[in-house]
Amino acid sequence: MDVLQLDVSGRPQAWITAKEAAVIYACDGVAWTLGEAFHVLRGGIQRATGRQSRIEVHPIIAVRGAIPTRAWRQSPALSNPKLFARDRYLCAYCGHRHVFDDLTREHIVPTSRGGRDTWMNCITACRGCNGRKGNRLPEEAHMSLLYLPYVPSLHEDMILRGRRILADQMEFLLASVPRSSRLHG
Ligand SMILES: [Zn+2]
Repeated sequence: MDVLQLDVSGRPQAWITAKEAAVIYACDGVAWTLGEAFHVLRGGIQRATGRQSRIEVHPIIAVRGAIPTRAWRQSPALSNPKLFARDRYLCAYCGHRHVFDDLTREHIVPTSRGGRDTWMNCITACRGCNGRKGNRLPEEAHMSLLYLPYVPSLHEDMILRGRRILADQMEFLLASVPRSSRLHG
């Protein structure tokens, strides 16, 4: 399970491993935490007390002095895993759910006709529908979109990037995801 790292103001910064989090705890870098500790790491014997050191890792940690990332001023990077997750693995043309390997990044306005490789011009399509649409606009191909593209918020991006997300983390992130997001679906 990964730990959600925030800056002190509570903005998500990254997913880190429990070991990486332990280093931050050990350096006294954790300002505050959220959620029940889900992992205990045992370290060496402390010379002063003769006891084994023990670090409880929480699912969400706010890190002292963390530098606000520039990500907050730009939209999240586009990737196929995140695009397919945004679109719930559903083809925008036939509406069927497909496995990852049968899905493609479909450019609504084809790149050969000036369409851009952005969240707003990309949608999830199965290989069959993508091939059928080819180099045409949806209206030229008489294929209408069953849902619309959108740019994920940065909280939503953290969800799309997460591997296995704990309930506490999901609750925290979803609270800041706009109601219009498909993740609320
Ligand atoms: Zn399809």
